[in-house]
Amino acid sequence: MSDVVIPASMLPTDGRFGSGPSKVRPEAVQHLAAIADGVLGTSHRREPVRAQVGRLRTALAALYKLPDDYEILVTVGGATAFWESLTFGFVERRARHYVFGEFGGMFAAATAAAPFLEAPERVEAPFGERPDPSPAPDCDIQALTHNETSTGVMMDIRRDYDRLVVVDGTSAAGGLYVDPSQVDVYYFSLQKGFASEGGLTVAFLSPAAVARVEQIAASNRYIPKFLDISTALENSRDNQTYNTPSISSVILAAHQAEWMLETFGDLRGVADAQATKASIVYDWAEARDWATPFVAGSSVRSHVVATVDMLGNVDADAVNAALRANGVLDTFAYRGLKRNQLRIALFAAITADDLRAYTACVDEVVRQLYGDRAID
Ligand SMILES: *Cc1c(COP(=O)(O)O)cnc(C)c1O
Repeated sequence: MSDVVIPASMLPTDGRFGSGPSKVRPEAVQHLAAIADGVLGTSHRREPVRAQVGRLRTALAALYKLPDDYEILVTVGGATAFWESLTFGFVERRARHYVFGEFGGMFAAATAAAPFLEAPERVEAPFGERPDPSPAPDCDIQALTHNETSTGVMMDIRRDYDRLVVVDGTSAAGGLYVDPSQVDVYYFSLQKGFASEGGLTVAFLSPAAVARVEQIAASNRYIPKFLDISTALENSRDNQTYNTPSISSVILAAHQAEWMLETFGDLRGVADAQATKASIVYDWAEARDWATPFVAGSSVRSHVVATVDMLGNVDADAVNAALRANGVLDTFAYRGLKRNQLRIALFAAITADDLRAYTACVDEVVRQLYGDRAID
């Protein structure tokens, strides 16, 4: 237990800075409580719940200005389950994966393990950098990660190469801009930028993506029903899911998407606010001699998850323990990265004022733990 005491006046209004799940906005929880009767604990096949699924799909379509011929899928399982759905029901023969962190690597491992697919191509970049997409003549999908949550590196998403473009938008969604016409599948879980809870997946599908889904569903490949994207599509068109969803997660995410529309106008507005919040954290880190942004390239530094290395004798574990003892939570580095690092979520629900307070709290913790001996 740490004996660092941060003065109450310095503390953020809300101490939740974890990179997943995100802080959930109290207003969304109040909204959930207000409408719970008549929705929670009622059939997901009947109108009150289906209306909530419809509400979520409508708000997301407006936020992303989704082209009319794109479809929005809502299904159970989260991004991890969707990697398996894509493996069974979307990759025809061979995938190319761009791997620059843990999450992209996990999807690559899923297609590599499938006996009915050829070994995938992996294009890698060291952690803290990102690979450049290029044509993949020998593959039938290009698999990208919009934001590598494990390292705090973001990627531009553009259709300037061939093949179906499949993007893991978990952690980027509701924070980074993407033009949906540049992607064929953009999928994400709802517990990050959309400040909901785990267990649901949303995916935007282009007409070419829907055609691919139907083509593979009609082939003789075995696809587990729970992972079958064509089954999920049929249900989504009806504002339902194949199996029972978390109804509260649907409502929290719908409220968050509507709040974004009201507050920021559109996804561009959300992304601009994210850029401003990111500079609070990166500028602070650059101005300290015992801290530095982990990602060297300033244009690839994430606007939704900031990674900051601790230098000299400043120990990120000790800093995080002192923060936690004062109610400032969950800014530990991704475990696989094994760095002396703080990883701070900047998700839409987290305010600029609270990020300023967070940096002041870290200053205070370092001052109390190390005095002026932070850098020897
Ligand atoms: C969190 C995360 C995942 C995993 O999401 P689950 O909902 O836990 O399956 C996948 N990809 C990225 C980029 C993530 O940030």
